[in-house]
Formats: sequence, structure tokens, C-alpha cells
Amino acid sequence: MSSEARPLRQLDPAEGPAPGLLLVLSAPSGAGKTTLAHRFQAAHAEAVFSVSVTTRAPRGAEQDGVDYHFVTPERFAALVAEGAFAEWAEVHGRRYGTLRATVEETLQAGGIAVFDIDVQGGAQLQAAYPAQALTVFILPPDEAELARRLRGRSTESEAAIEARLAAARTEVARGLASYEYVLLNDEIEEALARLELIVRAARARLAGWPDPHAESAAAQWRRGIAAIGSWRSATPT
Ligand code: ADP
Ligand code: 5GP
Repeated sequence: MSSEARPLRQLDPAEGPAPGLLLVLSAPSGAGKTTLAHRFQAAHAEAVFSVSVTTRAPRGAEQDGVDYHFVTPERFAALVAEGAFAEWAEVHGRRYGTLRATVEETLQAGGIAVFDIDVQGGAQLQAAYPAQALTVFILPPDEAELARRLRGRSTESEAAIEARLAAARTEVARGLASYEYVLLNDEIEEALARLELIVRAARARLAGWPDPHAESAAAQWRRGIAAIGSWRSATPT
């Protein structure tokens, strides 16, 4: 938790406990969802980043237990068999899963679990937790900027970057078809402010606390309404 961490809303105890929320952030690789997920989590005392389990190897400065739980394919299969995952999927040839315990503990505590997962995983959480899952699909302004961010991150080989760019259109088509919100990540501070309004509106709805300002501001980012620039034409039908 950072020193800037603050609650999203001061609660009046008479209103009852805060409702737990599952904030699902997905995007084509390189769009900025990890950056947004960590910034959001660091700024809010009740937000917890969901550390996924993966069979891929650590990259750059990634730490086991912080960025991911890095496991062997055998260990991953054992966790699947035990029913330890709330969702799991194969992405870019590796397996990734969300621990059920993280989801259940956050919901019980009335917190906000932040997920950096792909659209297959988002669809599974939406189906399993229809009331609590808030799905937000993040897009950079255009494909050229996506390529710039991926290359600028310098964590993958050129072949891996090409594969991720090729997969981006499919991911975008799925996200635009099924996620509740589409969030433009042009400038990071503005994107973060939009995300805060979307979360405030969702929490208010779930708890029955009226918040007309957040509701109307968030409505601009609803799927089908949000301006998504060049992505509409980049999306296969
Ligand atoms: P993802 O998790 O979606 O793959 P990252 O969060 O790793 O993406 O971001 C990819 C790169 O783009 C990183 O180097 C990050 O610092 C940068 N980035 C993220 N958001 C923005 C933004 N709004 N403007 C410019 N660069 C950004
Ligand atoms: P990366 O290897 O770049 O960290 O992640 C690759 C993709 O896997 C990203 O789209 C990321 O959001 C997704 N991912 C990470 N963890 C999970 C998870 O637990 N479940 C699912 N379904 N996808 C995940």
C-alpha cells in the first residue's frame, strides 16, 4: 500500500458494509493495463492486486509472489485438479490462472480485487460473479501507439512482439463485444481518473448509494458509446 492510499469513499457505518468488487482489466498486450492496475491498487487502501499463477518464466525484474506465482506445468495442472482457480486460460501458449481464494477473501472483506487478465478469463469471472465483476477493456489510441509501447517496454523479443501485435485484433474484437466499459488509455493520469469514476459508479450501484456524478461520467465509457477511434476499423467482424 502506498502512502497515497485512500479509501474510494468515506463510509457512513449506518449504510452497512461496503460491497466487494472484482475489477477486471483486460487489453491487448502493451496497452497499459498492468500500469493502470498497479496505479489504481496503490492509490486505494481497499484494493488488492490479484497475483495470478502462470507457467511462463519471469521477465525483467518480475518477482515470484509479487508479479506472478511462477509454477511448472505439472504444478499448474495439480491446481486445476484441486479446483484452486476461479478462472484459468491459455494465453500466448502459456497457462495463467486466478486463485479462487483471492476472489473469495476480497469479496468477504468488502474490498476491490484488481485483475490483470485476458478476455477469456474476464468472461469466466463475469459468468461466475455476474453482480460483482466489473469488466473494463483498455485501449491505447491506435495500433501504432500499441506497437510503440510494446517495443518501448523492451521485455520481449521482436518475434514475441510481432505475435502479440497479431493477437491484438482478436483480443480487441472480443473485448469490444463483451466488456461493460471501454477505457481509452491515451494519457495515463486521465485514464486513471476515468477508471476511478467507473469504479465509483459501479460500487455505488452495487451498494445502492446514489452517485449521479460518477454515474453520468462513467456512462461515456460504456461499451458501444465510448469513442474508440481507429480501433473500430481495425477490428475483424
Ligand atoms: P500491458 O500490461 O497492457 O501489457 P504495460 O502496463 O506493461 O501494458 O504498458 C506497456 C508500456 O506502455 C509500458 O512501458 C508502460 O510504461 C507504457 N504505458 C502505459 N500507459 C501509458 C500511457 N498512457 N502513455 C504512454 N505509455 C504508457
Ligand atoms: P504477460 O505474459 O504479458 O504477463 O500476460 C499475458 C496475458 O495473460 C495478458 O493478457 C494478461 O492479462 C493475461 N493474464 C495474466 N494473468 C492471467 C490470469 O490469471 N488469467 C487469465 N485468463 N489471463 C491472465
